[in-house]
Amino acid sequence: MDAGQVYQVPAHVVVNATGAWCDQTRGLLGQVPGRLKPSRGSHLLFPRHRLPLEVALTGLSPDDGRPLFAVPHREGTLVGTTDVFQQGPLENPRPSRHEVDYLLRSVQHNLPQARLTLADVCGGFAGVRPIVDMAAEEPAEASREEGVWVERGLVSTAGGKLTTYRVTAAEGLEVVVGLLPDHRRPTLNWGWLRRCPPIDWNHKRLSRCSGLGYRRWLRWVWRSAWAPKPWRWR
Ligand SMILES: Cc1cc2nc3c(=O)[nH]c(=O)nc-3n(C[C@H](O)[C@H](O)[C@H](O)COP(=O)(O)OP(=O)(O)OC[C@H]3O[C@@H](n4cnc5c(N)ncnc54)[C@H](O)[C@@H]3O)c2cc1C
Repeated sequence: MDAGQVYQVPAHVVVNATGAWCDQTRGLLGQVPGRLKPSRGSHLLFPRHRLPLEVALTGLSPDDGRPLFAVPHREGTLVGTTDVFQQGPLENPRPSRHEVDYLLRSVQHNLPQARLTLADVCGGFAGVRPIVDMAAEEPAEASREEGVWVERGLVSTAGGKLTTYRVTAAEGLEVVVGLLPDHRRPTLNWGWLRRCPPIDWNHKRLSRCSGLGYRRWLRWVWRSAWAPKPWRWR
């Protein structure tokens, strides 16, 4: 909305890709069941002179064995992250005291020579992950699968990871195309598919990096080979 003005735009399908806010957007339709259980990831910032890093490091939390990272940042060194269900509003998520202690313990454990204390923390921030609600008790156990839901012409897609954005986009697009009337439906551009397949990729390794299973990865490669330019409009 520009300057509070409301425009009416006729469309066959509307795509809702608002991440952790997906349920809020779906709520514009009226009463709909929640699909997401967002999880918060918090970070701490340390001044460079207290934690001088030239390269990014990873280590494990002494509390629960989760991997954490420390990354050089233009305002210091960033340490993250946590994974806790976000209770309450999604706007302005903040690190809780518990998360600050958790991250501090981790950095003290992994880099004891730095002798960091709470007084060294010079900043912090948090973000919310769009986790599909599959009744997991702990966020770390929650699946990072993406979901696509169709409600009265609204195609909502959320979940997944940065690394799976093409899978999510391809699945969403497939649903969108299925909802279009025949005369608006595109056909597959097989020429593009022939030019693209990355046959020399190490698929086993890439499937592990992507967090997808091997079969799912192959399905994604097959689809995404034509995902950037899949359609030729009639
Ligand atoms: C702390 C943290 C660490 C993470 N680490 C990793 C990682 O290591 N690897 C990885 O792969 N993924 C990671 N992720 C997950 C990754 O960031 C998300 O999976 C990804 O951003 C989801 O993409 P998206 O496009 O669905 O949602 P988003 O990136 O959240 O995009 C949604 C957009 O919609 C906008 N929006 C919301 N409501 C409206 C509205 N009403 N109107 C218009 N726009 C709206 C939002 O402002 C936002 O820009 C992490 C996430 C967090 C929070």
